Amino acid sequence: MEHVEELLTDYLTGSLEAKDQAQVEAHLRTCRRCQEELRALEETFYTLTHTLIPVPPPPESLDRIRSQLRWNRRKRDAIRTLFLAAALGVAFALGIYLGGKTPIQETALEKVAYWASDPGAHWRLLRTEGESLGLLLWREDGRCLVLFREPPPRGTVYQLWGEEGGQLFPLAGGPTRILEADYGHFRTLVLSLESRPENAVSGKPRPSPPARFLTRLNLP
Ligand SMILES: [Zn+2]
Repeated sequence: MEHVEELLTDYLTGSLEAKDQAQVEAHLRTCRRCQEELRALEETFYTLTHTLIPVPPPPESLDRIRSQLRWNRRKRDAIRTLFLAAALGVAFALGIYLGGKTPIQETALEKVAYWASDPGAHWRLLRTEGESLGLLLWREDGRCLVLFREPPPRGTVYQLWGEEGGQLFPLAGGPTRILEADYGHFRTLVLSLESRPENAVSGKPRPSPPARFLTRLNLP
């Protein structure tokens, strides 16, 4: 039996062609292993959404979204609804509790909401050492967004690189959970953790080895 694990993120976000989607659904009916993988992916999406929310929105709204995700067969809409709701939930909750939003939070959340609602964006789960690292969203016009599950450890920054001919070229970096960049013509992206913020604010000036490699991802 051919397992379909590699197609599951695209399945979950509704990015598959009809033929591939039918194949995944047929396979899922009989394969326990892929069913469990799908559940793990859904769980990761929930976790990412939860960590986006510094102040929880009313619990009943999250419950409603969760049950919608469970019952809605059009997963893409459900996942995007979940992310949008998380981003908007933050705006709502902060508005009530703090009387306003900080510019940084506002910008970050607007970015996530914008990307989550873009039907042209592809989604891929990022993993490091078997653990979920976050999400990569990219568009065919050369833009991408990396959403990390956790902020970088104190004194470090995340760095996104394009890889070509065995060399790394800096694309974006910063002490933030959200990186947005032009990946241009690169087909391989690399993420690392860097310890010297002054070198990674908007990318290192020259290609150099990453301090701590996190993951590598090939775009189709
Ligand atoms: Zn399978």
